[in-house]
Amino acid sequence: MKISINCIDASDGKISGIIKVFVSSLVHFIFFVCLSQTSLASELDYGLVAEPVAKGTYAFIGSTKYFSKNNGGNIVNTAYIVTDEGVIVIDTGPSYRYGKQMREYIEASTALPIIKVFITHHHPDHFLGNKAFADVPITTLAGVVDGIKRQGDAFTDNLYVLIGDWMKETEVYIPTEVISPGKISIGGHEIEIIALDGHTHSDMVILDHTTGMLFTGDLVFHDRTPALANANIEHWLSSLSRLQTLNYTYLIPGHGPITNNEHPMKQTSDYLSWLRTTLEQALTNGLTMPEALEMELPQSFRDLDILQEEYKRAVLQLYPRMEQHYFDK
Ligand SMILES: [Zn+2]
Repeated sequence: MKISINCIDASDGKISGIIKVFVSSLVHFIFFVCLSQTSLASELDYGLVAEPVAKGTYAFIGSTKYFSKNNGGNIVNTAYIVTDEGVIVIDTGPSYRYGKQMREYIEASTALPIIKVFITHHHPDHFLGNKAFADVPITTLAGVVDGIKRQGDAFTDNLYVLIGDWMKETEVYIPTEVISPGKISIGGHEIEIIALDGHTHSDMVILDHTTGMLFTGDLVFHDRTPALANANIEHWLSSLSRLQTLNYTYLIPGHGPITNNEHPMKQTSDYLSWLRTTLEQALTNGLTMPEALEMELPQSFRDLDILQEEYKRAVLQLYPRMEQHYFDK
């Protein structure tokens, strides 16, 4: 594209020619901008494809990396259950765009209406698609609602920085219905709501007794290093012990592949136990936080994706708290 604006000393004919070139260039420029926006809009497609897991149960399995403009924040597992009455959605993803695309996918796959959304915990990748389900009861534990009210805006601002345009029109939409732990019956499915904690102050687990599906939220990570930004390791380990007592056929973790065994529970608990012991030893040995950050990580965790990154984030979060506690003793 060439644009000339040098009109000084030019004759009328030359000026007219220059204006033609300018107008033509402008038209091309506008065309180019429109084309870029169209291709940008099509690029911002999560390409969601649901994986069938059990009868009427499907999961969208996200990346095991960290939030980036490449993955649009699709680092999370979400799911839905098609019951006789309608569809139950479990978690709504990291953005309004994700929630909308998820809803379009579900509605294209069944004529039944979406009748309920469950939110497992207050982390942004699990609830920021809520607005796409604003006409459906969005249900969770009281503690999750509190967490979203307290930290939802900060999480949202952070994701706007991390994933940019993917977040367009995303805003905090607070769940509309609080549920207590216990069993409920929906469309022929016996669903148990279990209230635990440790990954955050309030983690909701859903066990579908009819199909044997266990939706653990982020209490279980699979082949992906656990995120500890709001964690209490002791409580998390207790919750994992409780989960190991449940009867299930398939487990959908918050992050990582679906499984039919307890391997990801053990993987998560091994990492948490190691992290706790390692940081306690580091404190006892008088290591500073920069020294703790540089420690070599064991080969036994090489299957966990983004190990270095999450380890560093965990130390930055936990070490000052642990130091405070250690010196207060
Ligand atoms: Zn989480």
